[in-house]
Amino acid sequence: MSAEHLDDIGARLAAARARVAAAEHDAHRAPGSARLLLATKTVPLDGVRSALLADAAARAGDPAAPAPVLVGENRVQELVAKAPHLADLAPEVHLIGPLQSNKVNQALGVAGCVETVDSVALAERLATRCAASGRVLDVLVQVNVSGEETKHGAHPDAAVRTALDVAALDGLRLRGFMTVGARSSDPARVRAGYRLLREIRDEVRDSGEPGAEGAIELSMGMSGDLELAVAEGATIVRVGSAVFGARPL
Ligand SMILES: *Cc1c(COP(=O)(O)O)cnc(C)c1O
Repeated sequence: MSAEHLDDIGARLAAARARVAAAEHDAHRAPGSARLLLATKTVPLDGVRSALLADAAARAGDPAAPAPVLVGENRVQELVAKAPHLADLAPEVHLIGPLQSNKVNQALGVAGCVETVDSVALAERLATRCAASGRVLDVLVQVNVSGEETKHGAHPDAAVRTALDVAALDGLRLRGFMTVGARSSDPARVRAGYRLLREIRDEVRDSGEPGAEGAIELSMGMSGDLELAVAEGATIVRVGSAVFGARPL
């Protein structure tokens, strides 16, 4: 990336932080209750590093600073390529794109959380590998709240059952839910999807079923609509273009 573009990243990150803070305030939520995840697909390593360094600098010496940004990648290969070069900055790394079964081992090597568990079959595959190596993996269940055919995720009607089955597996810790919002210019429609994810989360978290009480996260909202998601309770907003600029098509 050009030097100018790298310089911009710190300012854009600060602007994204300010948007999240304003949205938390408007929703009468505690400052820092929605964490920021950097969606780094197609972003070169120097861009990702600039964002993480700017984040560390902005937070240094401020006891009231929000939690460090998370890093999210869509493709396992891209994550595997970048992760070793980010290790000195120790970000919490999430997989936010679909996980094919032949990539499970690779994903486990680099991701601290898989946000895209959309079936019990995938969860069982992850759980088996985790149990074999004695580790516990954080997972979110992805739900297709909009019903758009191009989107991944469990059907909303099946999401509670899927999540409870995932929560019961050894080797996985169900931390909550993730969705990609409706592609719509109607804020009411987008918001209704985010509300639905929150209702699914509440039902699971309050179910009393084994492993369900830790399902608190709601990963929802992106550069274009994070305010709507924070208003509906997002605990993680995933931001790419607002920080890194437009992606190549
Ligand atoms: C790309 C991506 C984002 C970020 O999108 P922006 O509109 O660039 O903020 C968030 N979540 C997922 C799953 C993505 O693929």
